Amino acid sequence: MLPKYNRILLKLSGESLMGERNYGLDPQMLSQYANDIKAITDLGVQVAIVIGGGNIYRGMNEAETGIERAQGDYMGMLATVINGMALQAALEQVGVKTRLQSAIKMEQIAEPYIRRRAIRHLEKGRVVIFGAGTGNPYFTTDTAGSLRAIEINANVILKGTRVDGIYTEDPEKNPDATRYETISFAEVIGRGLKVMDMTAFTLCQENNLPIIVFDMNKVGNLTDVVSGKNVGTLVK
Ligand code: UDP
Repeated sequence: MLPKYNRILLKLSGESLMGERNYGLDPQMLSQYANDIKAITDLGVQVAIVIGGGNIYRGMNEAETGIERAQGDYMGMLATVINGMALQAALEQVGVKTRLQSAIKMEQIAEPYIRRRAIRHLEKGRVVIFGAGTGNPYFTTDTAGSLRAIEINANVILKGTRVDGIYTEDPEKNPDATRYETISFAEVIGRGLKVMDMTAFTLCQENNLPIIVFDMNKVGNLTDVVSGKNVGTLVK
């Protein structure tokens, strides 16, 4: 089967790595994700990944933590590197070649982020994990995902979540809510639907980078998405 996309950027939240726990990393989730990612690399898809850090630390709660926002944000970025290392280990365990690139220099554990080098790794079939977000406080890993996806000329950004797409309303509150198969950027804004934060979202819109929101926790869904099946919601 020929995949629909040649190069993708997969955005995973840190929280998705918790599984049933309420903090940290669940080895079962890591290995499930690693196997799903391996399946699409076996199809010849070039895969870049941006991972969040919310399962370990989020910088935005200055009032709660007493830690200044920018300082907390840097702590959050370090959390994404821990997650990136964990995912790297899980991928290598199933035989996938990887490189971790960090937006904050940490030579002993990750390459520095170098755009052209990342593209070269992808061309060689290595999965590239981008750690430390954008390297700047006041941003999110969704924005890092959009930014890196555009930089590496990914065909699409795949936002793995716990829900299987974008709904007309919150499906947990209204059982009659229906899933959009496709929706335009303008309609998402017009209807006030939440896909990503505005910075990340407008970056995609301005650069014509389509977004697919899909349920990453269902085994095999990632393969269906890259095969062009009607899974999740396509924003374009
Ligand atoms: N962060 C940041 N700049 C970035 C990316 C992330 O400052 O470019 C910080 C921010 O504090 C954020 C934390 O890292 O709360 C973890 O990332 P995020 O909340 O996006 O992770 P997710 O929600 O995907 O788990």
